[in-house]
Amino acid sequence: MRFDIITVLPQLLDSPFAHSILQRAQNKGLTEIHVHNLRDYSDNKHKSVDDYPYGGGSGMVMQIAPFAACIDKLLEEREYDEIIYMTPDGETLNQEIANQLSSNAKNIMILAGHYKGIDQRIRDIYVTKEISIGDYVLSGGELPAAILVDAIVRVIPGVLSDETSALSDSFQDGLLDAPIYSRPVDWKGHKVPEVLLSGHEAKITEWRHEQQLKRTKERRPDLLND
Ligand code: SAH
Repeated sequence: MRFDIITVLPQLLDSPFAHSILQRAQNKGLTEIHVHNLRDYSDNKHKSVDDYPYGGGSGMVMQIAPFAACIDKLLEEREYDEIIYMTPDGETLNQEIANQLSSNAKNIMILAGHYKGIDQRIRDIYVTKEISIGDYVLSGGELPAAILVDAIVRVIPGVLSDETSALSDSFQDGLLDAPIYSRPVDWKGHKVPEVLLSGHEAKITEWRHEQQLKRTKERRPDLLND
């Protein structure tokens, strides 16, 4: 699976993909992540990519020409299943969206905005999907893009060493995850629940399921209604 991310600040994306699970996924050949500097596609001598908004108002707008040049070049090279713009007014990211993109898409292009955002015409002409990472506004689309890539890549089969691990995480079965414990059994009087030490697999599965339901009921009753 291949990702192409277009950004004005490629350095912001150096670290998120260079460690741990995302790095291993690339090393294993399960994903490729390419970051493109939007300024390389500016024909302006200062390499600027933004301008004042028509109609006035505060903040700058990312212009259509550099994005169009970069997107067109990538489209000449291969087909994309989705061209995604990260934006607070998009569909809110959830596990289902991540799962679907992970199993159905081969090539995904992601546009990261800055300033007030990108010229509406880029969205109208090129973008096939708009995704928000939550109801708050960040200063750029790089961190949202990294979050989206992480959510998609960790559910590609073979990326996590223990394949069942992603399946038992929160949201995969519509429930939050159960509490987890490791050594020591007793920390200053705070003990690990007895059932987890019993070695009785069926009982442990039942306990975990009960805990998942309890936690979901307390914290996210909306998931149970769904
Ligand atoms: N004027 C815009 C916000 C621009 S923030 C509005 O009110 O909707 C600048 C850039 O940061 C956006 O173009 C987008 O790419 C990114 N961004 C900010 N918050 C985001 C969020 N919650 N989800 C996804 N991307 C976000």
